[in-house]
Amino acid sequence: MTKVIHCREVGFDCDGVIRANSEEEALQMAAEHAKTVHGMDKVSPEVVAKLKSIIREEAARPTH
Ligand SMILES: [Zn+2]
Repeated sequence: MTKVIHCREVGFDCDGVIRANSEEEALQMAAEHAKTVHGMDKVSPEVVAKLKSIIREEAARPTH
C-alpha cells in the first residue's frame, strides 16, 4: 500500500501530495516538504501527530 499525505489537510494552502512506500518514509518526506516549501524550520511532535492522523493508504494502480 502506498502511503499518501495531502499537504492541504495539514493546514497549508498547497496542492502538494506526498507518496511513499511506508509511513516512516512519508513522514520524512512531509517534514522535508514542510521545511523546503513552507519554510517550517522544525517539525514539532504536534505536526508529526497531525501528519499521522491524515495519512492515507492508496491501493497500487493495477498493472495492465
Ligand atoms: Zn505543501
